[in-house]
Amino acid sequence: MELRHYTKLSKADLIQRIEKAKIEKNIRILAHNYQRPEVQEVADYLGDSLDLATKAQALNCQSVLLCGVLFMAETAKILNPELRVLIPDLNATCQLADTISIEELHQAKEEHPDAVVVSYVNTSALVKAASDLCCTSANAAHVVNSIPPGREILFVPDRNLGKWVADCTGRHLILWNGFCYVHEYMTEADVETAKTEHPQAKLVVHPECTPRVAHHAHLITSTNGMVHFANEAEELIVGTEIGLIERLKREYPLKKFHPLCASAICATMKLITLDKVCWALENDQYPVELNPEVIAMARSAIEKMIALRGITNPPSKR
Ligand code: SF4
Repeated sequence: MELRHYTKLSKADLIQRIEKAKIEKNIRILAHNYQRPEVQEVADYLGDSLDLATKAQALNCQSVLLCGVLFMAETAKILNPELRVLIPDLNATCQLADTISIEELHQAKEEHPDAVVVSYVNTSALVKAASDLCCTSANAAHVVNSIPPGREILFVPDRNLGKWVADCTGRHLILWNGFCYVHEYMTEADVETAKTEHPQAKLVVHPECTPRVAHHAHLITSTNGMVHFANEAEELIVGTEIGLIERLKREYPLKKFHPLCASAICATMKLITLDKVCWALENDQYPVELNPEVIAMARSAIEKMIALRGITNPPSKR
């Protein structure tokens, strides 16, 4: 059945078909924290990008449907080459990951031939394959600290995360000039408004936010860090994509959560809809295919990061 027919099905019908397909095809749904609420509801596991990739390793299934953006599905494939990894929409790409191409990285490496290249997980498989180390927002400072002092470090592609890591570690980083528009466009005016409206709430922000906004935060942390912090706070202003609020409300129904910016919506994350999830499951679409050499090289950069595991960034409070 073509995708257009699925748009006519009710939510209840879609959910019933999704649950049936999951069992019949031995497939699990992994969804990122920024996914639509109805997609989060049918997921077997919710998390950040590395969580999703490592969770795929632990699941006893033939396939996973990754509800997120393309680099996340690629990362799951890199860590699980034997697993069939599907993504419901190939147009769901990450604007931040798209700020650096493999050609641009090669050029930067020529300009800094001695630099250790640290790439944020929000990069293509090709960029990871040409990097020395990978990092996430949860462990970037520790990854940088694992590099011997005195080594030049090229950090790609998020300039805001890179600046924050440089501040946390005291290391000089050569920063790529990329940013995530969802976080970049949160402003100090948003902070002022949110704090006035919710004076008791603590402000937590993602390190992809600008330093001007992050400066006002009680805590700068990854999305998983925000979920953990919600355990000890009664009311939070959440400075990241608004999809995380759905997860927080579900996990802490008695607590209050407010978006720092209600228009902080990642358009490509929201391309994944319930009808596409159902269609993808029933039609085995779209398989993520990567060159085995790229998988091996990218995997090396990710595994070096995982070998540093058990570590996450120290809490970054004002
Ligand atoms: S929120 Fe930003 S970093 Fe995350 S997937 Fe969307 S564009 Fe990429």
